[in-house]
Amino acid sequence: MIMDRFHHNPAGDGLPIQAAFEAELPLDGVIFHVPHDSTDIPADVRNQFALDDQQLKNEILKMTDHFTARLFCSGSNPQNIVRAPVSRIVVDVERFLEDSAEPMAAKGMGVIYTQTSNGIPLRRPISLNERQLLLNRYYIPHHQRLEHRVNEKLGIYGKCLVLDCHSFPSVALPYEGSEAGATRPDICIGTDGFHTPPSLAEGLLSEFSALGFRVALNDPFAGALVPISKYQKDNRVGAVMIEINRNLYMDEVSGEPNERLPELAQFIHATLLKCLGPAARW
Ligand SMILES: [Zn+2]
Repeated sequence: MIMDRFHHNPAGDGLPIQAAFEAELPLDGVIFHVPHDSTDIPADVRNQFALDDQQLKNEILKMTDHFTARLFCSGSNPQNIVRAPVSRIVVDVERFLEDSAEPMAAKGMGVIYTQTSNGIPLRRPISLNERQLLLNRYYIPHHQRLEHRVNEKLGIYGKCLVLDCHSFPSVALPYEGSEAGATRPDICIGTDGFHTPPSLAEGLLSEFSALGFRVALNDPFAGALVPISKYQKDNRVGAVMIEINRNLYMDEVSGEPNERLPELAQFIHATLLKCLGPAARW
C-alpha cells in the first residue's frame, strides 16, 4: 500500500512523500506540476474575498483539485514537484499572466479570479498594487521554479516531460458551460499539439483503459501546461495533462478522501512508470 509509506515532508510544504524515493530514478526526467490542490488562503488575503466563511469554504471545496499531490506524486523526489502554495482562487498559476492571452479571463477566472464557479462576485475590486503583490508572491516564483526545474532536466537528460496533475468534479460546475447531465470520464488526458508526443497520449489512454477506467482525450478539459519560455518553441519539452474524476477517490460533499485513494495512486504510479519510464520512448 502506497499510503503506508506516506509521511510529511520535513521541509514543511505539507506534501506527502515517500521516505526512500525508491521510484525516483525511473521518473526523474518528469516534473510534476500540481497547480490546484492547495486549499490555503493566506490570512492577509482573506479580506479580498466578498464571501462569508461558509461560502468561501464551499467555493474552495468545489474548485480545489483535492489530494492531487498524493495521487500523482507518491514516490517522487520533492525536488521534481512544482506545487502551487496557495488556493487557485488566490492566484491561479495555470493561467496565462496577461488576461488578454487568457480565455478564462472572460469568465472572471483569469490569473486572479473575480467570479466564483457560480458566476457571482468572488472578490471586492482590488488595486493594481494588490494585484501585482499577489503575482509577485505566488505566480512569478512558481513559474520561475518550474522554468528552473525544467532547465535542470534539459541539462541532465536533454529532454523533460511536464506532467500537469489535476482532478475534476464528477458533475460540471456552472462556469464550465458544459451540457447539464453530460457523462464525464474517469480520467481525462489533455494534450498540446506541439508538446505532447502522440504516442504518449495513446499509451496513457490504452494503459488506463486496460485498468478498467473510462478514459477520454481532451474531455472535459483540454491542453497541458508548458513553461512559458518553451511554449511552442522547444520540442525537447514534452507535456501532458492527466485529470482524475474526483468521485473515484473522494467524497465531493465532505471533501474527505475515500478508501480507494491509495489504490488509485498506485495505478497512476504504475501507469506513469510504464508510459514515462526509461523504457518508454516519449
Ligand atoms: Zn486543475
